[in-house]
Amino acid sequence: SPRSMALAQAAERVAAEFEYTKQDVNRGVHEFIRQMDEGLGKTGATMSQIPTYVTAVPNGTEKGLYMAVDLGGTNFRVCSIQLHGNSTFSLTQSKVAIPKQLMVAKTSHELFSFLAKQIELFLKTHHGEQYQSHKEKRSNVLTGDKEEDVFSLGFTFSFPVQQSGINKGTLIRWTKGFDIHDTVGKDVCALLQQEIDALGLPVRVAALVNDTVGTLMARSYTSPGKTGTLLGAIFGTGTNGAYVEKLEKVTKLKKLGAAAGDIDTSTGEMIINTEWGSFDNQLSVLPDTSYDRDLDRESVNPGIQMFEKRVSGMFLGEILRRSLVKLLNDKAVPLFSDEDSNQNDVHSTTNVAPDSPLYKQWGLDTSFLSITSGDHSSGLKVTRQTLDKEYGVTAASAEDAEAVRLIASAIGKRAARLSAVAIAAIVLATNALKKPTEIATTNNATLEVNEDDIVDIGVDGSLVEFYPRFEEYIREALREIPEIGPQGEKKIRIGIAKDGSGVGAALIALVADKAM
Ligand code: ADP
Repeated sequence: SPRSMALAQAAERVAAEFEYTKQDVNRGVHEFIRQMDEGLGKTGATMSQIPTYVTAVPNGTEKGLYMAVDLGGTNFRVCSIQLHGNSTFSLTQSKVAIPKQLMVAKTSHELFSFLAKQIELFLKTHHGEQYQSHKEKRSNVLTGDKEEDVFSLGFTFSFPVQQSGINKGTLIRWTKGFDIHDTVGKDVCALLQQEIDALGLPVRVAALVNDTVGTLMARSYTSPGKTGTLLGAIFGTGTNGAYVEKLEKVTKLKKLGAAAGDIDTSTGEMIINTEWGSFDNQLSVLPDTSYDRDLDRESVNPGIQMFEKRVSGMFLGEILRRSLVKLLNDKAVPLFSDEDSNQNDVHSTTNVAPDSPLYKQWGLDTSFLSITSGDHSSGLKVTRQTLDKEYGVTAASAEDAEAVRLIASAIGKRAARLSAVAIAAIVLATNALKKPTEIATTNNATLEVNEDDIVDIGVDGSLVEFYPRFEEYIREALREIPEIGPQGEKKIRIGIAKDGSGVGAALIALVADKAM
């Protein structure tokens, strides 16, 4: 019917706004590499390129028992990780909610002593023997402490810190509801160590850990083959990446005033936390539709995290919501209205409840993009049911659902292609593909990829895990970059990295031990 034609055309127009062409991808890659270089040279660049003081990635043969704790928001997690040395590990974990009053305590002592007590409880419960033998030795002055009795611990602390060594970092500011004045400007590792020592626990805070670096380390330990992982990337609520860089390229290290003794230079490498969520805040190459602009203007941090606002789970649902609202407000477009309704009286015929989440900022969850983009049911029944149950849209037609799916898929695909820009830039900037051992078979043009040539990438986050064909779209974009092409794309292996904040933090503690 003319109505469904009009709807399909309107949806196609909106979807077209999210096209991110081959040319766009290539321009994006070059600008990304430029901003990476800029960030390595100075502080205060658009992309922070933070040196992590972690100077090696694991290869799967590492062994030992390590601890990790994670303070990131609502919960405090304590775990111990047994690394078996064959790319596998066992993990014991406990989790406790942080009491609200401790998040806004008067002194750091109140919060950090609580954390230390959780570590004590964990040790008593899961490592009673080691805990007890340490206690006994401590009471016997003649024996003294032995290093091998002490757990090395990786501390994942997901707040802004200025790091100055592998286990040194001062809090810049609290976020996510925390507010304890006297912690700001203090070394959070030292604060935790003090409270651990006060309880006499056999634990050394060996490393301060960023979750993206944890993802890279976890993947490098568990990935098949001997080649270390190049990049760890998160596509979840937010997006960020950490990669292995040549130490000599991190020219700003000297300016950061890191003491020479704080850096292990033996590998000639250092993991860099890119903070790529803020890539191109100035919008020189990022796409910028009216939906992107409105989302940004009404966000709590306009002008900041512009890459993240086009890529990550926190924002994609909101971009779709704004696109749908635009169509709903366009009287000429019959989205979510009855086929036989009077076109002059749109308001009385809309099938959207007045209190629908579609009318509220952040009202549409990114998981809906996955549902509709992956909907293969007849007449898009699943999409229509979800619109009904979750979003107050009654009696959506198959044409409505088709329009929604078209736009959602365009937004998801654009996010994947932007993700490819970040991945490609890091692969190219590190020369990771420049190993000339390709073997072309004689009878056809296909290439066999040698295991040594694999460029391994670890990813984590609901978006990359659950959005249909996210990796496929990334790969398609990678092939469109001449410096990578189909041959380079084949060498890039992308795999999920699980438990980054547990095993990843443990591995950083291990690397920190070795550097001591
Ligand atoms: P976090 O990054 O906070 O550790 P996740 O990786 O689970 O946690 O990411 C959560 C984000 O992913 C949220 O923004 C949510 O909207 C989005 N999300 C949750 N489920 C899905 C899904 N099935 N498909 C796409 N995005 C999802």
